[in-house]
Amino acid sequence: MAREEPQRSCLGCREVRDKKDLLRFVLAPDRTLVPDVQGKLPGRGAYTCLRKSCLAAAVAKKQFSRSFKGEVRCAPSDELIAAVAARMVERIGGYLALANKAGKVASGGESVIEALTRKSPGIVCVATDISPDIGEKIVALARRHGVAHFALFDKDRLGAILGKGLRSALVVEQGGFSEALRNEMEKYRNFFEEGRTQHDKNPRI
Ligand SMILES: [Zn+2]
Repeated sequence: MAREEPQRSCLGCREVRDKKDLLRFVLAPDRTLVPDVQGKLPGRGAYTCLRKSCLAAAVAKKQFSRSFKGEVRCAPSDELIAAVAARMVERIGGYLALANKAGKVASGGESVIEALTRKSPGIVCVATDISPDIGEKIVALARRHGVAHFALFDKDRLGAILGKGLRSALVVEQGGFSEALRNEMEKYRNFFEEGRTQHDKNPRI
């Protein structure tokens, strides 16, 4: 028999959802509000949807103080949103590093084009500062073959994640890592909801 998922309501929009789909917050000992993106910090949690508008609404309506019954030291909502986004990006970088250690990553423009043409990779990551012609070519290939793609890191950071020099693009083989990355990217995009986000500002990606 399937166990029922624990549910909580969002402090922003009040909707009740499965706890695992919500963003958890805890209080540090000095009562600073801390986003718990991994959902693993100890203590009582308060929740919002994984959406920046719900987080901003919860802050604006002082719902965290209500939920934690007392004063909460709460950063402005744009800072909290940036902190959550930074942790999500960190997590995505962590998955890329793990996939690389497991030998599931091919990197560099030519290898990526080759992989997209001959193999069927699980996900493509393009550097935010890739040269436009190669970037367009890779994204067009990914679209043609129905491969998910994203751009979150510049060449320098992408290389650093792989323990290498500058990298303009990489592919992750199909499997657990690429699934985890697709899942994390979806969460990241949902968090920024309303259409285009930082990683999408660049029209060629
Ligand atoms: Zn909500």
